[in-house]
Amino acid sequence: MISIEFEYKIVSKVATLVVKKQINSLFLTVLTVLIMLIIVNVAANAASVNHYISAHHYSPSTITKQIWKGFPHYKYRHGKGKPEGVVVHETGNPNSTIFDEIAYMKKNYRNAFVHSFVDDDHIINIANTDYLCWGVGYPGNARFIQFEQIEMHSKKSFAHEVENAAYYTAYLLDEYNLKPNDAVYDGKGTVWSHGSVAKYMGGSDHTDPVGYYKKAGKKYFHKAYTMSQFYQLVLTNYKNIE
Ligand SMILES: [Zn+2]
Repeated sequence: MISIEFEYKIVSKVATLVVKKQINSLFLTVLTVLIMLIIVNVAANAASVNHYISAHHYSPSTITKQIWKGFPHYKYRHGKGKPEGVVVHETGNPNSTIFDEIAYMKKNYRNAFVHSFVDDDHIINIANTDYLCWGVGYPGNARFIQFEQIEMHSKKSFAHEVENAAYYTAYLLDEYNLKPNDAVYDGKGTVWSHGSVAKYMGGSDHTDPVGYYKKAGKKYFHKAYTMSQFYQLVLTNYKNIE
């Protein structure tokens, strides 16, 4: 026969063990939930700009043609109206409007010009896309339609601009019977950044719009926006056009 005191000790020891076990399993549950939340959050952020655009049902701006007659007319290497893809630029100017940039380009077209400009609220085509422009140097100029993006300064305006840029890219591909093909990672295809043209073909040492996408993505969506995400958005828009 055991004493009451001894019995009490055993009971309390068992009770402590049970409580400890429960705390352990509670801790594990909380930890698991936390890890799952982090994973879900990372996945959401990774797709956040494109997701934000589709969640808010953003529709692109209307393409406005304001063709300026002053630009020279040179054929692409395969001829008039035969571009081989689209190059996406970004001005690198944090303090300009789309109208400032267009005015500047008309004045300085002898140094460089592109076909179109895009911001959160406009897609403005200023040079005939059947002829080449001078935005990436040789040999890319003789191959690609090119447009500039203006730097935006809010989450909403950046998302609107990226949607406009992706829609305009998809529109041009469709217009010239070009199939979407991401050229950024292998130097072959129809959708280019200025940076990828410079990397695979030369002509300049520019890297845009990668830095701008990275900075604006981090600032407004806590994660860098990338050309491969942009390409996915082009595909979405292309499917909607077809
Ligand atoms: Zn550029």
